[in-house]
Parts: sequence; structure tokens; C-alpha cells
Amino acid sequence: MSGAGPGSALLSDVRPWGGPPADVRVVDGVIAELLPVGTVPGAGEDVVDGRGRLLLPSFADVHVHLDSTGLGLPFRPHTGTPGVWGMMLNDRANWRGAEAPIADRTTEALGRMVARGTTSARSYAQVDVDAGLERLQAVLAAKEAHRDRATVEVIAFPQAGLLREAGSVELLDEAMSQGADVVGGIDPCLLDRDPARHLDLVFGLAEKHDAPIDVHLHEPDQLAKFSAELIVERTRAHGMTGRVTISHGYGLSALPREELLPLVEQFAELDIAWATIAPPSPLPTLLLAEHGVRVGLGEDGQRDYWSPYGNADMLDRTWQLAFTNGFRRDEHVEHCVAVATVGGRSVLGTAPALRDHLDRPGASVGDPADLLLVEGETVTAAVMDRSPDRTVLFRGRVVADGLELTGAA
Ligand SMILES: [Zn+2]
Repeated sequence: MSGAGPGSALLSDVRPWGGPPADVRVVDGVIAELLPVGTVPGAGEDVVDGRGRLLLPSFADVHVHLDSTGLGLPFRPHTGTPGVWGMMLNDRANWRGAEAPIADRTTEALGRMVARGTTSARSYAQVDVDAGLERLQAVLAAKEAHRDRATVEVIAFPQAGLLREAGSVELLDEAMSQGADVVGGIDPCLLDRDPARHLDLVFGLAEKHDAPIDVHLHEPDQLAKFSAELIVERTRAHGMTGRVTISHGYGLSALPREELLPLVEQFAELDIAWATIAPPSPLPTLLLAEHGVRVGLGEDGQRDYWSPYGNADMLDRTWQLAFTNGFRRDEHVEHCVAVATVGGRSVLGTAPALRDHLDRPGASVGDPADLLLVEGETVTAAVMDRSPDRTVLFRGRVVADGLELTGAA
């Protein structure tokens, strides 16, 4: 009964990662004990009725654009034109005119994410000469509104590049001084057309603000490879081991194995992480896990000016990761859950990288009690069924139940 009492909670009859039923005691926001089912709660101890549900680590969405979300608004037909610049202009022309103020939208979207099982997130906030710091302030407002439900990192994101519009670099610098956590970069070759200059600016700001880096890479194969090599060079030169993430990297996934492998080995050596959104040409997650490269999953936009996809549900996106990879074996589908949960935390630096594709951390003694209870016969069945019967815990406290937030903010 060690530690039972006020400040502790007993999760009764749960199945950690689909294993045998257990009662789980949580103390001070950490899993303290795994006990036999039927354990008598301590005096004053909260009890969460597990009802035989699965116990998983909660989701970490490491690539979400809260500042462009359209969740909760009337559906809007897609009007963007293909390509990053065209999509950016479509967003720029419309985001202020949406039915609700941007800070209300970011807060609504983050709440929906928590309600569905996400308690860690890394969100972009577009910083450019159109938005200034307005979108950053909106994401920071969402973070503050849900501070007792989720941890959120904010990326100051130069969606319009750094070299195309005067004042972009100064704004990114200011965003880092105004509460952003991560310096963003984007398509150093294709957007700014001066990859060395773009990346030097990004790494320079990261050094100045002692911050990590996340670079959006939509570029095709050889350009993506070239950009990735420049990122590797600078990660090494600036001593940024463990502090750089490549997002998307679509073109890298398409490289022949003999070209991809040396890059993956360098990512492992310099601990460069990879964030994916489960696109049609999927990331080689098994290969990355084999090499101990940190990999996380995200939703990208949510029904925004770039695409109608994204519904705040990382369990849906986990299904998508499995589906786009063509996975059928349970161990592979479960690996997708590991990527979407603890894999994401590894990108955020709050958990180690998955050791291999069979690694299932996050629901054992000593792990943070950021947890998801979800109905499902097995973990793979839960991904296929995506039941609404979920309970979400953040730091050992229930923050959502049945896809609704619980309690006051
Ligand atoms: Zn994105």
C-alpha cells in the first residue's frame, strides 16, 4: 500500500499494452505500482474504473498546425492550389476571415486533441510578415488554457520562408523571444532557393536562443537528400546532437535503400529525430526503429486551408500510419501505437528512442501517468475499432472521458 492515499489514484482492472489485467497505482503523476486486480484503495485515494480496458501511454502529436485549424467551424471546401507557396497564399488570404477568432480556434482544437487521448503536442505557429506574432500568441493562448491537461511545445515557423519577404528573419527572432520553444525551417532549396543561407539562419537563431530545431522538408528525392545532408553538417558543426527534427522528409522516404541508409545512420549518430504525418508514401518506421532513430507521429493540419484531413484524433492517425505502411501483423500495428505515443515523447525529449519495433514502453512502474484507457480486445483491435470509450489521464489525473474534457480548465 506504499504511497496510497490523497494524491494517489488507483486505476482498477486495466490491461497495460494489452497484457494481463492489473490494478495500477499512480502517485504524484507517476506509475508507482502494478498490483493484482481487486486491490483495496487506500483512504482518500481516487479510483478510476478501468473496466478491463487497455492501458496505453497517451498520444504525443509532434506535428500539428494549431494555428490554421478549422475544427469546430462550418466545413469549408478546399480552395488551395498545389505547392507550398500556393497553399500558403490560400491560407494567408483566408485565415483572418474564419468564423471564430484564431485564439478560440487553437484552444478548441487542442481541447479536442486532449479529449481523444493526446497529452503532449508540438504545434507550429506561422510567423511571417502577414501574421506577425498573432498566430504565435494564439497557440500560446491554447497552451495556457490547457496547461493542466497537456504539455505543448511551440515552433516558430517561417511558413513563407526566410528570404522571400523582408523582415521574416527578425520576426522569427522576435517569436523566439516571445515564448516559442523551437526554431522552424522549411524547404531550404525549393522555397528560399538558397539552402545554405536558410539553414545558417535557422541554426544561428537556435544557437542564439538555445533552442531545438524542426525543419519541414517537402522536397523531392535528391533535393531532400541535399537539404538533409546540409542539416546533418550543421547539426554536427553546431553541436546540436539530439536537438534537431526533420518533419515529413517525403523525398527521403522515396530514396533507394542504398541512398537512404547512410542518411539514417547519420541521423542515428547525431540523434536527429523524424516526425511523420503518415502520408501516402510512408516513412520506413521499422528501419528507423531498428537504427534507434527517434520517430514521432502528428496530424499536420486539421481541416484547414491546406487540406480537409485531420480530426484531432491521434488514434485515427495511428490507423493511418499502419494502413499507409501496409501493416497487417499485430506487432507492426502495435509499433505504430508506440510511435504515436512514446515515439512522439522521444522526439520531444521526454522519453528515450524506441529500441526496436517490438519495444512497448510507457505503461510500467516509473513511467509518467500520462495515460489512455481505451476499449479494445487487443491493441491492434483498438486501432482498427477506434472506440470512443476512452479515459485520458495527465500527470495521474483524469482530464477527459468519453471524448469530452472533464472538470474546469
Ligand atoms: Zn506541417
